Amino acid sequence: MHKEIYDINLGNTDHSIRRNADSDFISFWDKQAKLLSWFKNWENTLDWNPPFAKWFVGGKINASFNALDVHQNSKSRKTAIFWEGEDGSSREISYSELFTDVKKFANVLKSLGVKKGDRVTIYLPMVPELPISMLACARIGATHTVVFSGFSAISLKDRVEDSQSKVIITADGGYRKGKIINLKEIVDEKAAAVNSVEHIIILERTKMKITLNQKDKFWSNLMSDASDDCDAEELDSMHPLYILYTSGTTGKPKGVLHGTGGYLTHINSTYKWAFDIKDNDIYFCTADIGWVTGHSYVVYGPLLHGATQVMYEGAPDYPNASRMWEIIQKYNVTIFYTTPTALRMFMKFGDDLPNSFNLTTLRLLGTVGEPINPEVWKWYFNTIGKKKCPIIDTWWQTETGGMMISSLPGLESIPLKPGSATKPIPGVEITVVDENGNDVDENTKGSLIIRKPWPGMLLGLWNDNEKYNDVYWSKFSGMYYPGDYAIKDSDGYLWLLGRSDDVLKVAGHRIGTAELESSLVSYHNVAESAVCGIPDEIKGESIIAFVVLKENVTESRDELLIKLKEIIRNDVGAIATPQQFYFVTKLPKTRSGKIMRRLLKSIASGENIGDVSTLEDGTAVSEVQSAFEELKKSIGENKSN
Ligand code: ATP
Ligand code: MG
Repeated sequence: MHKEIYDINLGNTDHSIRRNADSDFISFWDKQAKLLSWFKNWENTLDWNPPFAKWFVGGKINASFNALDVHQNSKSRKTAIFWEGEDGSSREISYSELFTDVKKFANVLKSLGVKKGDRVTIYLPMVPELPISMLACARIGATHTVVFSGFSAISLKDRVEDSQSKVIITADGGYRKGKIINLKEIVDEKAAAVNSVEHIIILERTKMKITLNQKDKFWSNLMSDASDDCDAEELDSMHPLYILYTSGTTGKPKGVLHGTGGYLTHINSTYKWAFDIKDNDIYFCTADIGWVTGHSYVVYGPLLHGATQVMYEGAPDYPNASRMWEIIQKYNVTIFYTTPTALRMFMKFGDDLPNSFNLTTLRLLGTVGEPINPEVWKWYFNTIGKKKCPIIDTWWQTETGGMMISSLPGLESIPLKPGSATKPIPGVEITVVDENGNDVDENTKGSLIIRKPWPGMLLGLWNDNEKYNDVYWSKFSGMYYPGDYAIKDSDGYLWLLGRSDDVLKVAGHRIGTAELESSLVSYHNVAESAVCGIPDEIKGESIIAFVVLKENVTESRDELLIKLKEIIRNDVGAIATPQQFYFVTKLPKTRSGKIMRRLLKSIASGENIGDVSTLEDGTAVSEVQSAFEELKKSIGENKSN
C-alpha cells in the first residue's frame, strides 16, 4: 500500500454529519430526501424486506421536475450544457431551452402512445438530445434504457427485446474518431424488427442519406408540431426511472433497475458532497451517458443542482491526445471527472501536452471506474491539478446508483492517500470480510461488502429477482456483495484491490490485481499493465503480466525485465513475481474503459474466450478487436521469460 499522505485542508473539518449519519442512517437519508422537491411527502422512509429496499414509500416525485422546473425562476438563462462536437461544432443550451425541448419531446412520446411504465430504448451518440430524451421519458413516467452507441446490432436487439421497449430513439449517425457510425442502419439490422417496437425516432445528427421504413419518424418533424406544455407526472418514489446494463467486464451484462425517489436523493447529495458544486462552476465529466456515470453524474447530478457543464461528443484523443486539455482551457472548466484508463493514456504522451494549455481554472479532480494507481494519481495531482486540486477517487457501481466510497470535499476535509478511495459516504456502512463473512483485521485483504440498504440501491435486476438474489445477496448472508476485493487500513481508509474474480492465488497467498499493476505502473517507462493468473501444477496459479510502455522508450527488454521484477519483489514480494511478461501496445478493454483481465486469462491459458458481447460490437468494438489480435500476435513475437 502506498504510504504518502496529501493533506489539502479545505477548511471544513467538522465530521459531525458523518457521525450523526452513522448513528441513524434512516433519519439521515430522510433529511437528505427533503432537499428535493416532492409533490407528496412519504409515509415511511425505508421499508427493508431483504434483499428489497423501498425508499420514501408513499412519496410522489418526478426526476425531470427536479432537474428542470425547479430552476426556471432563478436559473432559466443559465447555461445548462456547453456542447462540444467532435467535429469542432458547438452548442450552448440554457436551462429554459432545455426545459422547452424536454416538454416538447415528452409530448412527442405521448403522441406516439408512450405511457407511464412503458420502456423506451435510447441509442444516441453524446448529443444534447440524449439527456433531452431521458428527461422526457422521466417526465411522463416512461422507463428509459440507454444503450451505449458503440454497441452492435445484436447487443442492441438483445437489450430492446429484454426490456420490451415500445420506442427506439436513435440518430442517422454519430461521430467517433472522425468517422461516422451508421446508427440507424444498426437499428434496422435487428432491433427494428423486435415485436414490442412500434416507433423509431431518428435524430438528424449527420444529415446523411438514410432509408426510411414504416416505423421511422424524424426527430425534427415530430418536434416542429409539438406543444411545449407538459406537466411532470406525479410518480411514486419507487417508480422505475431506468434500466441500465452493466459494463460486462466480468461476464454477461446485467439489467440493473433503478427507482426514482431514492436514486435522486442519493445522486443529489453525493454530487454536492463530492464536487462541492457552486453556482459558477463549470463541470466536465468525460463519461459517456451510455454508462452509469453518465446517468448519475452527467445527466441527473448536475441538472438537479442547476450546474453548468461541458458535454463532449467524441473520443478523448481525437484528433489528438490534447483534446481534453483544449476543452478545459476553452470553457474554463473548474471540475474534471474522468477515468484512470483515460489518465494513463494521457500520461503516456508526457507532460508537454497538458503543460501547453492553461488548466489553472481547475479546482477539483475526480476519477471513477477502476482503481487508480498511486503513480497516476500523483501525475493527475501534480501535472493536471498543479498541486492545488483535491482528487476524489470515487468507488461505486451501476448497481449502487451513485458514489459509495469517496472523499467528499463538499462535506468535510480529510487527508488523501493516493490509491485509496478513502471512506464510505455518510449513512453507508462498508467493510471488508473474509470467506466466512467475518470482519477481517485492519490491513487484511478480503471481500468488500455493504451492510445496510442505501437510497441509490438498485430495485433489482430487470425481470430476474432470482439472479438479483444470487449475484449480490447469497455469497454472504444479509450483506450486499459487490464482487470487489479490498483492504481497510488502520485509519479506516479503503483500498480497492481489483475484482474478486481476478484475485491471484499463488502458493497460498491472495494478491489483488491492482497491487501488482500499480507496482508495475510505478516504473517510469510503463504506461499501463494488466496481470492475470494461469493454472500452475505446483503453485496453484502462476502470474502473467502484460505491459504497455510509454512512447519512445529506449530501454531494452532485458533491462526492463530486471527492473520490473525488482520492483515487484520490493513492493509486493518475491512470491508475486510474474512468470512471464508480455510487452504489448494495447490491452483489451470494455467500451467503458475497463481492462478485461478475464480475456487475457483465457488467451494465456488457451481457453475459450467466452461472452465478449460488450467487446466485439460494431465499429466501436473493432478497436478492441484489433488490440486483441495484436495481443495474440505479440504474444507470439515477444514471448519472453
Ligand atoms: P459487470 O458487472 O457486467 O462485470 P462492471 O462491473 O465493469 O461490469 P460497472 O458497474 O460499470 O460495470 O463498474 C463497477 C465496477 O468498477 C466496480 O465493481 C469496481 O470493480 C470498478 N470500480 C469503479 N470505480 C472504482 C474505483 N474508484 N476504484 C476501484 N474500482 C472501481
Ligand atoms: Mg459489476
